[in-house]
Amino acid sequence: MSDRITQLREDFDRELAAVASDTEAGSLRDRWVGRKSGLLTAEMKTLGKLSPEERKTAGAKLNELKNSVEVAIDGLLGSFAAKREAEQLAKERIDVTLPGRRIQAGHLHPITLLRQKIEDIFVSMGYEIEDGPEIETHFYNFDALNIPENHPARSPQDTFYLTEHLALRSQTSTMQIHAMQKRQPPLRVAAPGRVFRRDTPDATHNPMFYQVEGLLIDRGITLGDLKGTVEEFVRRLFGLETRTRFRPSYFPFVEPGAEIDYTCFKCGGGGCRVCKGSGWIEMGGSGMVHPNVLRVVGIDPEEFSGFAFGLGLDRLCALMYGLDDIRLLYENDVRFLEQFS
Ligand SMILES: [Zn+2]
Repeated sequence: MSDRITQLREDFDRELAAVASDTEAGSLRDRWVGRKSGLLTAEMKTLGKLSPEERKTAGAKLNELKNSVEVAIDGLLGSFAAKREAEQLAKERIDVTLPGRRIQAGHLHPITLLRQKIEDIFVSMGYEIEDGPEIETHFYNFDALNIPENHPARSPQDTFYLTEHLALRSQTSTMQIHAMQKRQPPLRVAAPGRVFRRDTPDATHNPMFYQVEGLLIDRGITLGDLKGTVEEFVRRLFGLETRTRFRPSYFPFVEPGAEIDYTCFKCGGGGCRVCKGSGWIEMGGSGMVHPNVLRVVGIDPEEFSGFAFGLGLDRLCALMYGLDDIRLLYENDVRFLEQFS
C-alpha cells in the first residue's frame, strides 16, 4: 500500500505541474478528491479490505496525501490570482512623471472675429446691435426698401425664393425696416447678419455671405453726418490715418447714394497687391434714407432724416488675412481656421 501511495503522489505532482488555468485546477481537484469519483475517495473505500494494522497506517498516509492535494491546488489557484492582479496593475499603471497632453481649445471663426470688432465699434459710437430673420416677405425684402416691381434684384435669378411670398433676405437692409417699426426715432442701430444671393461660387463670390449695416435716424441729419460717421467708423476699424472717399451711386432705398472707398490698410494709399495698385479699397454702399422708406414705417420725412451704410464682411476678411479665395472661409477646415485664433 505504501508503494501505491508513493505512486499516487508522483502521478498527482506530474498532473499538477501541467495545470495552466483555474478551470484545469478545478478539474484536477474533482479527479483526485471529488466526493463522488475522486481517485483518493475511491482509494479510501478500499481500506476496508485491509487488516486493522495496515488500515491504520495506510489510512493516515492517504489522509495526508489528500490534504496535500487540497493544499497544492489551493496554492496554485492563489498563484494564478496573484499573477492576474499583477498583470492588471501593470496595465493600469500611470506614469505621473509624463508631461500632460494639451487640450486643444476652440476659437472663433475669422468672420466672427471681424464681426465682433465691427460690432464693438458701432456700440462705442452709440449704436444698438439688431438681429433679425433670414427669411423675409416681399414687404421687408423689396417693397419697404423702395425696390421697384421690375428691379432685377427681385428676379428668381438673383434671389432665393422659398415660396411665392417668402425669400431668403438678399441684404441686411431688411433690418432697417424692422428696427424702425420697433422703435421711434431718434434711433441708431447696427445689423450684422447673413444674406443670400444666387451667385455661382468662385474666389470672390459665395451664395451666402455676411453684411453689417448701420442706420441712424434723427432730426436734422445731413449728408455731412453720414460722411463724418463713416470717416470715424473707418478710422476705428483700420487706423487713424485711414482716409475715405465717396463716389455717387444708386441704391433704391437711399437718395442720394454713394459708394464708400477707404485708403488701403496695407500700403496706406501708395498702391500695393492688396489694393491692386490703386491705393483705395471699396467698402460698400451708403446714402441718405429714402423718404419713401421712412413713410412706409410711419416716420415723417419732413421731421426726420437719416443715413445708412453697410459693408460686406467676407471679402474684407479675405483682404485682411490675405486669402486668395473666400470659399476657404466656409469649408470649415480646422487646419485653416485654427490659424486665426
Ligand atoms: Zn494697398
